[in-house]
Amino acid sequence: MQTTPFSLSHKTALITGGGTGIGLGIAKAMIAAGATVVITGRREDHLKSAQEQLGSNCHYFVFDLLEKTGIPALIEKIESTIAPIDILVNNAGIHLKKLSLETGDDEFEQIIQTNLLSVFSLTRTCASRMVARKSGNIIFIGSMAGIFGIDRVSAYGTSKSALTGLMNNLVTEYAPCNVRINTIAPGWIESPMFLNAVNADPARKQKIVNRIAMPGFGQTDDIGHAAVFLASEAARYITGVVLPVDGGATVNF
Ligand code: NDP
Repeated sequence: MQTTPFSLSHKTALITGGGTGIGLGIAKAMIAAGATVVITGRREDHLKSAQEQLGSNCHYFVFDLLEKTGIPALIEKIESTIAPIDILVNNAGIHLKKLSLETGDDEFEQIIQTNLLSVFSLTRTCASRMVARKSGNIIFIGSMAGIFGIDRVSAYGTSKSALTGLMNNLVTEYAPCNVRINTIAPGWIESPMFLNAVNADPARKQKIVNRIAMPGFGQTDDIGHAAVFLASEAARYITGVVLPVDGGATVNF
């Protein structure tokens, strides 16, 4: 493969939740750019079928990110059996659509555990190795719900806006060691999570359609291509940004 600043040749990427939806789109785009990818998730059947689709440059590990004490062993296993992780994509996440007045503490906490605290644990473990190697790249997956106030997603929106706070602070610690960290804020992207959330709510779906400047919803490949760019040398001077990939939804009135 010809090397361009956009190439991920000789790079290894760990993509959480890489067996479905946006994570699978990122895995596909990174492999096309020359990377080896490792995908994780809880459901082996999804990981296995993603691997069959992605080919021999894809490896998978079944891992529940809520099992935070197992994270150092997972990373050691990946780095000793496959390769040092150059790129970490914290994509796994869960959604909760419920009025805040009806959201229990345990439900709120579950969202924060998955979407924020596991991201911190995994990032800390990977970043300690990246900092020692003086090279690395970390991507968070945010959301429009981390930028706007949207009804019925208070826990989810809080988890996603907190990721931006976490990113800003980590940038200052990692930048001197050549480790970059950026966030992609997907707009409304056709994935299992999105379709589950909107298909049962036509009014919400119409509100979203009205909000997006470009025609149609986004595709998982759109997020994949943005992730390739941010992880590549082409973005070597970019750290600490939140990049909306949203068909203009954040500026459309
Ligand atoms: P999916 O539901 O397809 O993907 C979520 C992934 O996360 C699944 O592969 C799931 O795998 C994994 N996951 C969830 N919980 C855990 C856990 N405890 N341990 C390990 N893996 C876990 O939805 P999307 O592709 O849409 O979502 C991907 C990311 O994009 C999420 O962070 C989401 O918040 C974000 N996003 C999506 C948008 C959209 O429009 N689709 C918009 C904005 C943000 P498994 O269940 O097998 O563990």
